[in-house]
Amino acid sequence: MYDIVIIGSGPAGLSASVYASRAQLKTVIAEKVYGSAGQITESEQVDNYLGLWGESGYALGEKFRTHAIKLGAEFYEGEVVEIKKIGSIFTVEFADKNKIEAKAVIYAAGTYRRKLEIKGEAEFTGKGVSYCAVCDGAFYKDKTVAVIGGGDTALGDALLLSRMADKVYLIHRRNEFRGSASLQEKVRSTEKIEIILNSVPIEIIGNINVNALKTLHDGKEEKLSTDGIFVAVGTIPNSGLLKDFVKLDKNGYVIADEDGITSVPGFFAAGDVRTKSLRQVVTAVSDGANCIYSAEEFISKKI
Ligand code: NAP
Repeated sequence: MYDIVIIGSGPAGLSASVYASRAQLKTVIAEKVYGSAGQITESEQVDNYLGLWGESGYALGEKFRTHAIKLGAEFYEGEVVEIKKIGSIFTVEFADKNKIEAKAVIYAAGTYRRKLEIKGEAEFTGKGVSYCAVCDGAFYKDKTVAVIGGGDTALGDALLLSRMADKVYLIHRRNEFRGSASLQEKVRSTEKIEIILNSVPIEIIGNINVNALKTLHDGKEEKLSTDGIFVAVGTIPNSGLLKDFVKLDKNGYVIADEDGITSVPGFFAAGDVRTKSLRQVVTAVSDGANCIYSAEEFISKKI
């Protein structure tokens, strides 16, 4: 029996692991894919994490993971399919039928990329449609690409791609961006990026691979020739398996404040998967620490 099972090995989960090790709590981190450090590894550069500016997301993720390992983190590779609480004990069940029991759970499973849900998207995924500019950008050297979205991810992706591609269209459905002012400024001053506002994607067209994107631009149908389409239209919480277990908000985020406390005593939520206004590495890392504090209190009061 563990004191704590942490679900997810992104910044929130790894930070929780570091704090759990220092509090000498018997802890295991369950991760779907061994060696992951979460979505941060898909960011080209992170400039807003105190003391470690300019790191690539991948390098930062590796540092987080190495830190957790140095303090003795134990990992279990497997996809969680069910979480139950019977009496005061939590049982986490995996796709391989293995089970882990613990006195408390820290749920830090993060989010995944939202899809456009338009014609051609599923058909051309991996054939010109991508959800990760860091992973796939290099395939578009000297080519034309379109980035869809108006948040930090889309702006960052457009900047990254402008260093490889010949031309980058940045397509946003409204007339103003949601992303940070500093990224907007960089995007606007990058010659290779052409911003197209009030433009809603309606179809992805291709033969074997993508060759065009159809949009409604200012209400009129437009066809844009492009070799690749990078979809960056936000994220969806990984909370499907929690539906009947813990209270979620209308978008599926686990309802919890900074202390991570949820509607189920002993079940804490950390990182992007919980209700919060700022989803950043720094807030995820802070959630991990706060959750261990809450879990420690919970375990010590219960025993
Ligand atoms: P986001 O902030 O939710 O932005 C999603 C964008 O996609 C919005 O502009 C939205 O348009 C657009 N969109 C949503 N559905 C669409 C659809 N069906 N068709 C066309 N456009 C659609 O998502 P994000 O950019 O992935 O960022 C997620 C979180 O991570 C944010 O809190 C962000 O600050 C953070 N983040 C931070 C950094 C950093 O600090 N370095 C980097 C990446 C992400 P509307 O604006 O019209 O809603």
